[in-house]
Amino acid sequence: MHNLANATGREVRHQEAHAPSPRFTLSWGVTVVALVEVRKVTRVYRKGDQTVTPLHEVSLDIERGDFVSLMGASGSGKSTLLNLIAGIDRPTSGTILVNGQDITRLSRSALADWRAAHVGYIFQTHNLVPVLTAWENVELPLLLLPLSRAERRQRVGIALEAVGLTDRAQHYPRQLSGGQEQRVGIARAIVANPHIVVADEPTGDLDAESTAQILELLRRLNAELGTTLLMVTHDPHAAAVARRRLRLEKGVLHEHERASPGRQA
Ligand code: ADP
Ligand code: MG
Repeated sequence: MHNLANATGREVRHQEAHAPSPRFTLSWGVTVVALVEVRKVTRVYRKGDQTVTPLHEVSLDIERGDFVSLMGASGSGKSTLLNLIAGIDRPTSGTILVNGQDITRLSRSALADWRAAHVGYIFQTHNLVPVLTAWENVELPLLLLPLSRAERRQRVGIALEAVGLTDRAQHYPRQLSGGQEQRVGIARAIVANPHIVVADEPTGDLDAESTAQILELLRRLNAELGTTLLMVTHDPHAAAVARRRLRLEKGVLHEHERASPGRQA
């Protein structure tokens, strides 16, 4: 395991360059900047006169098209980090750039718009609206975007097809199994074609068979559609599906060796 703070190359380059980091496309067409750049992010929660600091100066790059799993003990700050990257929460200090945009500088409403357009969120459970069909649940995030009805219809159709639920489009959540509900949740997360999809314990509430199906679906979304994924889990088997595995311990990120040889650490 490597401490990310000691990571070579990229990390050093960013420290030397500091902000603004080189945000350009090289002449042969290679974009050099990571999709997500977390820089020295600290999050302090205050409860009365007590403070909790789950993240202390955490830095992390997530490359476009990567599949990153994040493990760590309960309360280690996994959800905190995921929510910061997803623009649901704000850091106490530090910066987070996604696709070159510093989301920590956005106003509350600009951040909400940014989230709707660029982030897909897969929850652990109980996330579908019970009075809406699978189709309507998947369409929901698109209603926040300036799309025509025809565009919405096309995107919802593609997303439901991607998760293998075209034939369940008119079913209500109560008519679906837990695994199917989660697949609808995944369709909803990818329907707006976001920069990144974040998943917080997406299999935490599922049986072994549904868990295996959901993990295989996430793996295929990444491998075949190039969806960039960040998945929080405390299941080592789930984490092993990812290309890159991280662990949070006492506010510090540790990196496992890359799963597949030939990929850069
Ligand atoms: P994990 O997802 O790894 O279980 P969390 O990120 O949810 O951990 O929480 C990390 C720590 O921050 C915990 O000690 C938790 O109690 C605290 N925490 C999280 N959210 C809040 C909040 N909104 N207010 C106060 N403390 C919080
Ligand atoms: Mg959590």
